[in-house]
Amino acid sequence: MVIVMRAEATGNDLAALQAAIEELGMQVHVSRGEERTIVGLIGDKRNVEGFPFTSFSGVESVVHVTHPFKLASRDFHPEPTVVDVGGVKIGGGNLVVMAGPCSVETRDQLLESAHAVKAAGAQILRGGAFKPRTSPYAFNGLGVEGLKLLAEAREATGLKVVTELMDLEHLDVVAEYTDIIQIGARNMQNFPLLRELGKIQKPIMLKRGLSATIEEWLMAAEYILSGGNSDVILCERGIRTFETATRNTLDLNAVPVVKRLSHLPVIVDPSHGTGVASYVPAMSRAGVAAGADGLMIEVHPNPAKALSDGAQSLNVPQFQSLMGEIQALSNALGLRLEERETETVSP
Ligand code: PEP
Ligand code: MN
Repeated sequence: MVIVMRAEATGNDLAALQAAIEELGMQVHVSRGEERTIVGLIGDKRNVEGFPFTSFSGVESVVHVTHPFKLASRDFHPEPTVVDVGGVKIGGGNLVVMAGPCSVETRDQLLESAHAVKAAGAQILRGGAFKPRTSPYAFNGLGVEGLKLLAEAREATGLKVVTELMDLEHLDVVAEYTDIIQIGARNMQNFPLLRELGKIQKPIMLKRGLSATIEEWLMAAEYILSGGNSDVILCERGIRTFETATRNTLDLNAVPVVKRLSHLPVIVDPSHGTGVASYVPAMSRAGVAAGADGLMIEVHPNPAKALSDGAQSLNVPQFQSLMGEIQALSNALGLRLEERETETVSP
């Protein structure tokens, strides 16, 4: 249930309402928008059935949230959430590009990728240090050594960093080195992990599970939000379908659907969504046109030699050319793509 308060409601009105709700054994979540204040009630709704909230001073209406997700819902929080990653704003009309290799492989490979994506206009460097691989014999990432290289690349370029956390045992060390913690598709419903992420104050990018419905994905976000961490970014990375021509089916329907249901920013990952480098530019443009708040794109200095996901990785010239298209598209759509900065630090 959410209670909508009139624009002219006073602080005392809000305090009185809040006290009454808490007395009924419910928790309160207040969201102050520009035009109205939304008071969300969390807890067993039987506690408040029939309670005369509309008779409280300042209350405009009472809305019953029909979705199982509450804090992730737009009813609770009508304004789009903007996640501020050390000055890089994700959501609310900004278009953010995260780019870099699937895996951190070597110092040279990462630094070359970082300088290249920065020069092309990306704001965030991606790179996996803990890799979820289908085969236990495949390259599983450099672990903590990879995190340190990401931190070095951040230092050298000024880019922010996003990297995947796979296991609770690495939460502290990943949180120490990264600006955004990525939760991969395979862990989207790792509920103990999600609960722990709710207790920290670090942006989380939650990728959609391989076979997750949009509702399941938003419920996973709810786990993090309900723990008290409100910096959740969603990432559509394709779902499993009967189609075999592409690695996954990039579900761009999810972008407007999530935008309607939720206030959380949505990033589109056309690299995992297609699995094929030559399809990445078209689906990147489509993602932006569909209303995504940003893109996550795999870029490798030499995709043929990549230790993971080479087939879907763009090389540097391909990424530069795509960024030119994204810039043109964002201008046409009136989005704010952060200004490309000239590279000042030499590799
Ligand atoms: C990745 O970003 O490299 C990755 C493993 O993604 P996903 O969890 O979407 O498969
Ligand atoms: Mn990958």
